[in-house]
This record gives sequence, structure tokens and C-alpha cells, in this order.
Amino acid sequence: MRCRFCGSKDVEVHLRMYNLRLCRADFVSFVKKRVSYAIEKFRLFREGEEVVVAVSGGKDSLGLLHILHDLGWNVSGYFLDLGIEGASDVAKRVIEGFSKRFAIPVHIESLVDVFGWPIPEVARRLRRPACSLCGTLKRYYMNRFALGKVLATGHTMFDEAGTLLANVLQWKVSYLSRQSPKLSEEEGFARKVKPLVFVTERETAMYCFFQGIDYVESPCPLSKGATSRVFKRHLLALEEDMPGTIIRFLKGFYSARKQITFPEEERQGLSPCRNCGYPTSAGDLCAVCRMKAKLESSPA
Ligand SMILES: [Zn+2]
Ligand SMILES: [Zn+2]
Repeated sequence: MRCRFCGSKDVEVHLRMYNLRLCRADFVSFVKKRVSYAIEKFRLFREGEEVVVAVSGGKDSLGLLHILHDLGWNVSGYFLDLGIEGASDVAKRVIEGFSKRFAIPVHIESLVDVFGWPIPEVARRLRRPACSLCGTLKRYYMNRFALGKVLATGHTMFDEAGTLLANVLQWKVSYLSRQSPKLSEEEGFARKVKPLVFVTERETAMYCFFQGIDYVESPCPLSKGATSRVFKRHLLALEEDMPGTIIRFLKGFYSARKQITFPEEERQGLSPCRNCGYPTSAGDLCAVCRMKAKLESSPA
């Protein structure tokens, strides 16, 4: 078997989804082309716009930052150090090494500096699961940093397909009407995009390996078996039995959606938070400002 593109005998990758055998160099350019395809297809961003990739230290976000930089986009990274011992510090070191090695700027913010407390302490004192707090805080600070720019995240094909499957199984029509690799900017919200929507995690792992990108392997030590992982596991099994199923599921949805009439959505009115200006539907203070107020008044 030879590389489909150049005919070389050095085939290193077999992509069953596309029935494609590729050499290392052609695989790397194939992945970049998948990203460019998503950027064009969904008009995620255009020349002159500033793109911020939210990095966690994992293969998907670091791979994405590297790809966009290589493709010549005006891109930088953003990392929120959540203060989780044994995880955030390790991720931060990996990201700093990446930034230096590839000369790609990454802005690092510490939750303790911007919010006042690290995640484990917030969770302990508010007696709430770390994951939901973490999601709220990350969304808030990522958005704040990316306002006026474009915020790109490392969600991959199986993340998107998993969300789609979950929404279909529960017939969450309003979620389906909004599910897209691009959420346009609104007053107080940065545009959010997912350029890896046609790239799999296996592909980002291989991309990082071929490009010599170090990344952190382990998921967050505080997360306990998210349901999204269950969906992903089943999608992987489907893909294993019927290669190409998942990309057809996802692409089919994006094109079918144009023909589906979704009921007019009653959108909750958002108004700016009294304290920080972040759009909120929760009354006069946003979730993050309310959290802060609770922490300030609760005993350590
Ligand atoms: Zn080749
Ligand atoms: Zn606020």
C-alpha cells in the first residue's frame, strides 16, 4: 500500500473513515486541510480577525493552536490556571514550553488572581461539584479575554457528534436549532468557533506526535465520568463497525438543518450584570459575581 497522495511507500497512517493511507507529511497537510475546510464552510473567521484558542494543555487545543498558526492565521492562546494541584501546574508548564518552542504567544491568567480562589476551594466552600463551577468560570474568563476577537475551542468531531446524539436522544429542539461550529458574537459575547469539527481526537494525537508537540494526557482529576464520555464511547463503537458513520451523521445534520423549520424560540432576555457587565438572565448579578459574593460572605 502506498500513500494515496504522493505514492510513497512510507505509509504511517490509515484513516478508515476516509479509507485513506497516508505518509507522515501528507497526513499533516490533510489535517490542516480539514481545518481550513471547516473555516471556509462555516465562515468561522476571516483574514484580519484576531483568533484566540482556549488551551487546556491537551492535544486538541494545542494541536489546533499549532495548526492555525501554521496556516498563517493571526492567532494566540489563552490559558486559565484553575489552581488544581498536580494538574493546573503541570498543564501550565507544558503550555509555556509549547509557547516558547513554537514562538506562539499564550496569555496565562490565574483564577486566584482574577477571581480570588482556586477551583478546589471554590467547590469545597460552596459545596458544589467542581465541574459545573469550572465550566461557568472558564466560559466567563475566556469570553472576557476574547471579547472583540474570535474564541476558538478544541472540540473535535466526536465531541460535536456526541452533543448532537445527546440532543437527538432527548429531542432538545432548541439546542438542535443552535448547534453549530459557530456561535455568532452578540452584545457582551465573543464569537465562538470550533475549527476541529471535522478532525478526530486520534488525528490530533497523531498530528501532535508528528509535530513534536508535548501535551498533558490526563483529563481533569476532579471530573467524574461525564455523560458526554458515554456518548463518545458508543459513537466510537459505531465508527469501529461502520467507518464513516459519524462524519456522515454530523455533516448530514448540518445540511439537513437548513431544511428543518425550528419553532420560533422564546429567548430569555439578557441584561448586563450590574457589577461586571456580563450578559445574564439571572437577575441583576451574573453567576460569577454571585459566586464571588457568596464566597466573600462565607467562612473559610
Ligand atoms: Zn505521501
Ligand atoms: Zn458579573
